[in-house]
Amino acid sequence: ELAYLNGEIMPLDQARVPVEDRGYQFGDAAYEFVAAVNGRLFAVEAHLDRLERTLLALAFPPLDRNRIREAIFTLHQRAGIARAGIYIQISRGVAPRSHAFPEKTVPQVLMTVRPVPPTPPEHLTRGIAAITLADQRWGRCDIKTVQLLANVMSKQRALDSGAYDAIFIGPDGTVREGTSSNLFIRSGQRLHTHPLTTEILPGITRAVLLDICRREGIEVLERRFDRQEMLAADEVVLTGTVTEVLPVTRIDGHVIGVGRPGPMAARLRAWLEALAADPDGP
Ligand code: PLP
Repeated sequence: ELAYLNGEIMPLDQARVPVEDRGYQFGDAAYEFVAAVNGRLFAVEAHLDRLERTLLALAFPPLDRNRIREAIFTLHQRAGIARAGIYIQISRGVAPRSHAFPEKTVPQVLMTVRPVPPTPPEHLTRGIAAITLADQRWGRCDIKTVQLLANVMSKQRALDSGAYDAIFIGPDGTVREGTSSNLFIRSGQRLHTHPLTTEILPGITRAVLLDICRREGIEVLERRFDRQEMLAADEVVLTGTVTEVLPVTRIDGHVIGVGRPGPMAARLRAWLEALAADPDGP
């Protein structure tokens, strides 16, 4: 397990960040999480694109994309972990605590590489249980910042209530996404997922699955739907870099579809796995 700190690679437990790092004091930092599957990093360029968009939205100085990419690959290679997760965090640097941006911003770039625990087999054979919760996050859920308190509190509430994850519902009753995943429902032959707005994160896995579905002739509607429509769906799945494709078979105590993981979850998962294993894939 290794860390990268402003150009230097070191054992993870030796990496130290100053107490006045703005990421630590204000959540003033962007992040990404890239996964390696079977020793191959997946969709690195898409993650770098999103990181650039987050940094732009936060008015950070532009990213040295080549340097970040090189660090990701070096860290992954040096760690030698087949199923690895690379966490990347870029803060607005270290400065005496003050809300205003520091006069000169020197971003602090931090990465860690660790094994990603395997998906518990019962999550795939039985599906997971979820609860719905009012979305209490801020208004820019489309960028990936480390201000994750609403996500953290909601995940813990789900676990404390015996479920595995929480699904955020907007004030208009719209189903948005999970605490660290996007959400799709299947009704009949069609899939539905929330459109790309400031209310959800534009997931890389979501985008990859949309592409696959177009290729395979599966219709996906990017539209708003409510909790009632989700509960009445044939299948519900969560998607994400770590989540991959996770079937949800119980929501707020209601059984979804026939109460078992459905065929679409299995197909999406298999397609995603095949793409991740493809040396010519993203
Ligand atoms: N939505 C939220 C709130 C997330 O935190 C994540 C991933 O961390 C996702 C969706 C899925 O995004 P991706 O597929 O890029 O991992």
